[in-house]
Amino acid sequence: MRRCPECEHWEPAGAPGCARCAGLVDEIVEEGWRAFLMREFGTTAPPDERLIAEMVVDEPDKHPWRVVDAAYDRLTCAECGGRLSRGPVTCAACNLANGFRYSAIEIDRPGVPPGNEHALRVNVSVTRRPDGISESEVLLRRLSLPILLDGLLPTTAQAQATKAMANDGATEAELAAVVYAEWGRV
Ligand SMILES: [Zn+2]
Ligand SMILES: [Zn+2]
Repeated sequence: MRRCPECEHWEPAGAPGCARCAGLVDEIVEEGWRAFLMREFGTTAPPDERLIAEMVVDEPDKHPWRVVDAAYDRLTCAECGGRLSRGPVTCAACNLANGFRYSAIEIDRPGVPPGNEHALRVNVSVTRRPDGISESEVLLRRLSLPILLDGLLPTTAQAQATKAMANDGATEAELAAVVYAEWGRV
C-alpha cells in the first residue's frame, strides 16, 4: 500500500473527497473497460464507444462489473443529467441503473481470497456514489479499499466488529487502526 501525496490516506481511501484518490477509484473500473475493448475490438479507442457502452448496459449480466460500471460512466442520465447510475438518490433513473448493474459478473483476480472481488465491487460502488449512504458506512467502505486492492479480505467476524465500531461512532483514526492492522492478517 502507498500513501496518497495529496491526502495522506493509503491510496485510494481518500476518495471521494480527495480528487487524486477518486481518480484512482475510477481507474479500477477504467482498466476493466480498456481490457474489454482490447479483447473485443482490438483497440482501446473505438470510434463508437458510446454505442458500445449502450450495448453493455443492455446486457449487464453478460459482462464483468468493472466493464458495466465503466459503461454507465459513459452514458448521461436523462433525468438528472449526471453520469447514469451515479446521480443523487432522488434520481429514479439512476437508482434503477444502480440496481441493474449489480447483475454483472464478478471474477476474483488470481491469488486473492474468494469474495475479494465482490467486496471490492461494493466498496467501489459506494465510494463512487455515496449519496443516500450513511456517513459511517461510506467511511468504512473507503477505508477498506486499500486492503481489498492489496488482495486481502477481512473475516466475517472482523468485518462485523469493525462495522459495529463505525455504528457506535468510532473516529476515522480508530477505524483505520483496526482495518489496516488486523483485516486479512489472521
Ligand atoms: Zn488522496
Ligand atoms: Zn440520474
